[in-house]
Amino acid sequence: MQFNKVTDGIVQELKAILGEGNVLIEEEKLDMYSRDEVSDKLWEKMPEVVVKPENVEQVSEIVKLANRELLPITPRGGGTGLAAGAVPLSGGLVLSLEKMNKILEVDTENLFMVVEPGVTTGEVQKTAKAQGLLYAGDPCSADSSFIGGNVATNAGGNKAVKYGVTSRHIYGLEVVMPNGDIVTFGGKNVKDVTGYDFVHLMVGSEGTLGVVTKIWLKLMPLPKYVADLLVPFADMQSAIQVVPKIMTAGIIPTCLEFMDSLSIKAAEMYLNKKLPYSDAGAYIICEIDGTSETQVQDDYETIGKVCQDNGALEVFVADNMSTQERIWKSRKCYAEAIRMLSPVYCMEDVVVPVSNIPKALEAIERIAKKYECKIPSCGHAGDGNIHATVLREDRDDHEWHDLKDKVLEELYEEVYQLGGNLSGEHGIGAKRAGAMDKHMTEAQLNVLRSIKKALDPKGIMNPGKVLV
Ligand SMILES: Cc1cc2nc3c(=O)[nH]c(=O)nc-3n(C[C@H](O)[C@H](O)[C@H](O)COP(=O)(O)OP(=O)(O)OC[C@H]3O[C@@H](n4cnc5c(N)ncnc54)[C@H](O)[C@@H]3O)c2cc1C
Repeated sequence: MQFNKVTDGIVQELKAILGEGNVLIEEEKLDMYSRDEVSDKLWEKMPEVVVKPENVEQVSEIVKLANRELLPITPRGGGTGLAAGAVPLSGGLVLSLEKMNKILEVDTENLFMVVEPGVTTGEVQKTAKAQGLLYAGDPCSADSSFIGGNVATNAGGNKAVKYGVTSRHIYGLEVVMPNGDIVTFGGKNVKDVTGYDFVHLMVGSEGTLGVVTKIWLKLMPLPKYVADLLVPFADMQSAIQVVPKIMTAGIIPTCLEFMDSLSIKAAEMYLNKKLPYSDAGAYIICEIDGTSETQVQDDYETIGKVCQDNGALEVFVADNMSTQERIWKSRKCYAEAIRMLSPVYCMEDVVVPVSNIPKALEAIERIAKKYECKIPSCGHAGDGNIHATVLREDRDDHEWHDLKDKVLEELYEEVYQLGGNLSGEHGIGAKRAGAMDKHMTEAQLNVLRSIKKALDPKGIMNPGKVLV
């Protein structure tokens, strides 16, 4: 797709819509919008202009202008994405939602919260908690990701085993369509089948079908009791073999995570703190919640026994805030901690059926041996979601790109053999868009392309992402 350049005249028009301060063109100010959390420079590009609307009408005016002038728009939330989704690889405008950051309503009677997209996920969680309620979306990036970004990527996270991914917590969306129209679908009704399920088409659409400008979020009662288990194992395979056994023990844990030995080492280096059993081959981390203390206790004892019967070195139970936080810090810091092992890396997000997680990890080990590289892994074991991270270490550009391409090709092949898929939660973005062509059928791609063409015929919304 051939797009036009942003001219001085267009910058003046944008300033007239948004005010001088909400239109950035200075290089030093644009720089932070040229990347997300993907560490490879391959996925960086400077925007021509960054715009920061403060309300939906301004978003609509910007989109109408871009549509008229054939300019690409890259919506941006907190910039914590791991798929180069918020990077303006085709140039044009970055539309940052950072100033649309108000919590509009907390409805404690109907259990809803209405928010703008630029509120951080952590703020949503805190606001719900202050009312004795739970917003169950919980990506590890909650302190810095925006709720709009979570919607656009259908973020998963730490409570997805029990409560589901972001799409399960969304009842309505206001969206600015690629022609500038403002539409609202869904809202406070718990059930709604009035027309196509547009809300869930937009969730996970990664900014390629429109800009999300308002969100109706589901809230639920806050569980009264929470316990976390940290379970070290001698090696990765014994740890991961226990996952399907926990999942079929008659309990739904809130979450079930794993970390291999390299990930534990990285967390220890990053936190600059000795972790318990840090020479273990792997950790399993499991959270259980509920409204009855005895039920939570029964559940963690059952899970602890399953672990002990299957080779756990120890079962640590944390049932107070400070020990729980200590456990979670080591898991939640993975994406940052991995930089301690290699500043450049390629973090993957493959997903397989839970029963095939042991085989997927075997394959990752095999691939690492074959290509003589390190691939630390950690992830949401209870969802079959593995963050396998290929480390660049001291390879030069040529060796690194060659290694990465070969490893990814083989990893994706193995994952598809196991009934899996490219991404469980980080999305396709630009980083994995090429792999879609290889791993989806022509018929599947045709459906996706038809939707894109119908809603965004000029292809201005986040070009080069999801579909190439
Ligand atoms: C330390 C760390 C931990 C992480 N842990 C998790 C995890 O546990 N689970 C998980 O799922 N992800 C995780 N991620 C990845 C990332 O945080 C999520 O993908 C998150 O949902 C991105 O939100 P964001 O606001 O940063 O979006 P951005 O990175 O800004 O954008 C992501 C995509 O959404 C689009 N977008 C953003 N806002 C809008 C909008 N309002 N309308 C339309 N499109 C929009 C962008 O164009 C882009 O395609 C982690 C990342 C880091 C760095």
